[in-house]
Amino acid sequence: MIRPSERAMGVEYAIRDVVLPARELEKKGIKVIRLNIGDPGKYDFQPPEHMKEAYCRAIKEGHNYYGPSEGLPEMREAVVKREKRKNGVDITPDDVRVTTAVTEALQLIFGALLSPSDNILVPSPSYPPYVGLVKFYGAEPREYLTVEENGWQPDIDDMRKLIDERTKAIAVINPNNPTGALYEKKTVKEILDLAGEYDLPVISDEIYDLMTYEGKHVSPGSLTKDVPVIVMNGLSKVYFATGWRLGYFYYVDPEGKLMELREAIDKLMRIRICPSTPAQFAAIAGLTGPMDYLEEYMKKLRERRDYIYKRLTEIPGVSTVKPQGAFYIFPRIEERSKWKNDKEFVLDVLHEAHVLFVHGSGFGKAGNWHFRIVFLPPVDVLEEAMDRFEEFMRKRLG
Ligand code: PLP
Repeated sequence: MIRPSERAMGVEYAIRDVVLPARELEKKGIKVIRLNIGDPGKYDFQPPEHMKEAYCRAIKEGHNYYGPSEGLPEMREAVVKREKRKNGVDITPDDVRVTTAVTEALQLIFGALLSPSDNILVPSPSYPPYVGLVKFYGAEPREYLTVEENGWQPDIDDMRKLIDERTKAIAVINPNNPTGALYEKKTVKEILDLAGEYDLPVISDEIYDLMTYEGKHVSPGSLTKDVPVIVMNGLSKVYFATGWRLGYFYYVDPEGKLMELREAIDKLMRIRICPSTPAQFAAIAGLTGPMDYLEEYMKKLRERRDYIYKRLTEIPGVSTVKPQGAFYIFPRIEERSKWKNDKEFVLDVLHEAHVLFVHGSGFGKAGNWHFRIVFLPPVDVLEEAMDRFEEFMRKRLG
């Protein structure tokens, strides 16, 4: 038997881990409503036509070669324009790097930044790779609390308590997965102030930036004066092209504090050759093209969010905060006497009601006794899921 590495064996990804028991049920012919994976392409969302056409055209016209490691110049220029429009940032193409989606940006940034025994502040609850990848690189993810009673805004005092001399950065996910929180401008400023006080960079995941309901997203990149910010974004959510695997990040670094880190990241970028060339042509079309499709899609998402929120407020034994961004809702299990923990709860729902959620503890310690629901499917599917869930809860609570 060949022994795999311990660091690989330690990796967990709750969102996909719950799929195995669901698959077992499906093998027996049972129809499971899966509300576990945040992939709009599995439902009635598609990348806009002009992006699809640009992708096909690029392939047909022969753009099937390796590109530069840092990304095509035209793509980096398109990012500069898009980010100027969205965040008002003054960056140049030299500040932009193109990646195989945000996931690769995280690998590159964490890989270049973190040595064993370093630590990095990550939100709790958070998208699982923030914990998993940091551990994979031998460093320690320190989970700062986000406060449910306060719309899941980060607790700045808790952040402060976690910082020590081995802290390398503060990671922010806004709008947030799994809570759907949208951070207030005041909060973003406070995070920047804290980072400035301890000379730390902020790593900002903005993959859901234009997917907001009531408020608007504020980027730390748009507010910083001296604190270095690395902003990550991509095609997966706002451009509905999860499977194309394309993203980017850029440096807002007014005082040049990231020079050495940039060099280290570039080294890592060179050994992985380059991101997909034709996908970058699609991205250029998306980043510089019309965005009217988004309005229509946000209308659908808002309707689905309102529906699921209303249903959840009527179901006994759970409570929930209304999401302000992304397409997740993160209810709390109030009635806890029937289950050992949230994972047991989610598996009970799966086996009894045939609806698949993800257990909240899979998103970090503040996720305990919660579960995440993806509300991407049409209302009739959500209705069926909520009917089954409501019946389940009424039965269990007697
Ligand atoms: N960051 C967050 C907060 C996410 O929720 C996700 C996917 O769900 C990703 C990154 C992954 O993005 P990508 O498809 O660009 O790798």
